Amino acid sequence: MMPAIQITNLQKSFGEARVLKSISLHVEEGEMVALIGSSGSGKSTLMRHLSCLTLADKGSDSEIEVLGTPVQSKGKASKDIRRTRARVGNVFQQFNLVNRLSVLTNVLIGGLSRVPVWRSMLGWFTREEKQEALKALELVGLREHALKRASELSGGQQQRVAIARALMQKAEIILADEPIASLDPESSRLVMETLERINRELGITVVVTLHQVDYAQKYCRRAIALQGGEIFFDGPITALDGQMLSRLYGTQMGSEP
Ligand code: ADP
Ligand code: MG
Repeated sequence: MMPAIQITNLQKSFGEARVLKSISLHVEEGEMVALIGSSGSGKSTLMRHLSCLTLADKGSDSEIEVLGTPVQSKGKASKDIRRTRARVGNVFQQFNLVNRLSVLTNVLIGGLSRVPVWRSMLGWFTREEKQEALKALELVGLREHALKRASELSGGQQQRVAIARALMQKAEIILADEPIASLDPESSRLVMETLERINRELGITVVVTLHQVDYAQKYCRRAIALQGGEIFFDGPITALDGQMLSRLYGTQMGSEP
């Protein structure tokens, strides 16, 4: 098995603020991992490194490998970083769909990095691509909504369209940063079940940040908890007991960011 993600000694500062302090971690292909920790602990910053969208501090000895490819070393991008970026799908708290386009087109957009530029400019898609997009919508339970405008769907449904778009991208890792933070409990459950299903059925590696622990306990076997830019815990989620959780969240337990 190839490690999906391998991080050694990642350090990231913004000015004087040291936001990630010597993070090392390893995620195997096919794992579904919750990244937890209170607001400001560094989860989104770490996710941006995993998406290959930001670089570690210059002069640090940080190393990051994604899908067996070194993507950055000592704060410098590797030459393969763009190609690797295309193999990683992102799902954000705000669903980032094109509201006026159909659900199907939003999913098709996920495959644009795989089609020739002239075709993507014209918005031309082949029958095979449409079939593939419909299959992705089927997997997230939204096939019958394919021809609606994205804006007609509920927040939870839009989030599942964003997951289908990542499937269309043929993402081998899906990074979901607070995908349920703005959803009601029922929609949250459906989104988490969808992430769990694509992990289980398609073997896609999933890293999902959740600022509270309850959904992580329900859907993920492993948790990595950040506190103040350091790894506070990394292991089976069942090993996170009440005492650790109150140390992790302090008085912020259950509060919104
Ligand atoms: P989380 O996602 O866990 O809430 P973030 O990674 O967003 O945490 O932020 C961690 C810390 O880094 C916070 O103190 C935040 O203010 C700071 N930070 C994040 N991004 C930037 C940035 N672009 N410039 C300056 N500070 C930032
Ligand atoms: Mg965040």
